Amino acid sequence: MSGITGKVVAITGASSGIGEATARLLAERGAVVALGARRTERLDAIAGELRDRGAGVITCRTDVTRRADLDELVARTVAEFGRIDVLVGNAGISKIGLMAEGDVDAWSAMIDVNLRGVLHGIAAAMPAFRRQGAGHFVTTVSTAGLKITPTMAVYGGLKNAVRTILEGLRQESTDGVIRTTAVSPGYVRTELADSIDDAGVREQIRRSMAELAIAPEAVARTIAFAIEQPDDVEIGEIVIRPARQD
Ligand code: NDP
Repeated sequence: MSGITGKVVAITGASSGIGEATARLLAERGAVVALGARRTERLDAIAGELRDRGAGVITCRTDVTRRADLDELVARTVAEFGRIDVLVGNAGISKIGLMAEGDVDAWSAMIDVNLRGVLHGIAAAMPAFRRQGAGHFVTTVSTAGLKITPTMAVYGGLKNAVRTILEGLRQESTDGVIRTTAVSPGYVRTELADSIDDAGVREQIRRSMAELAIAPEAVARTIAFAIEQPDDVEIGEIVIRPARQD
């Protein structure tokens, strides 16, 4: 099935930022969407708006650090809409800081959400994708894995781990059943900096965002571009950054 109309897309981290913008754009373009995140009141508000415009939407409280939550997101999507065509693994946090701080708790939290959370989604959706004979993993990684800057070593390293995993998955899926897309955004105007614990680093990132960041809708359009391709076309990687980002 090519195009977006009628596609069934589950999105993690759909309660704000890139995930929310992606849900809105895909729904507007005729997809049915399953929205996962922890802040269910936000999901319900977004879902209400989309339903008012005629879209098919469900919400599912999803903490990606819990494997069972991803299983439930996929199961409820399939139960409601009959299948799942795309999983957008987008949930993420950015507890960045200098390595010298030795903040093992922050590193662990990022491992749990940004790496383990993606793996939970892959494990949850893979059986359905294989059963259906088609499925697409679209995952939000980052330019922080392409240009390594101070404070972003662990965050960028985990995003690169996800890129590597998606490429490995692609190599194992040359029968054409599974497609993978890694979307690497640069600075995007979202709530991501809120998850930074270090006040100095948080302010620095907020300043960079205020100066440079692009709208989450720009990333949503690149995700839509990957999803709307014909079945035999795979957009493996997309880098989308502010034109003035170094
Ligand atoms: P936001 O903070 O606006 O969105 C993050 C989303 O992730 C929220 O919906 C949040 O929902 C969700 N989330 C966080 N923790 C969990 C969890 N444990 N389980 C489920 N959902 C969770 O930031 P962005 O939109 O910017 O972030 C989206 C993705 O884009 C992330 O992976 C981020 O790393 C990546 N990215 C962002 C960039 C930027 O500059 N903004 C640049 C490059 C990549 P809730 O709290 O309701 O659970």
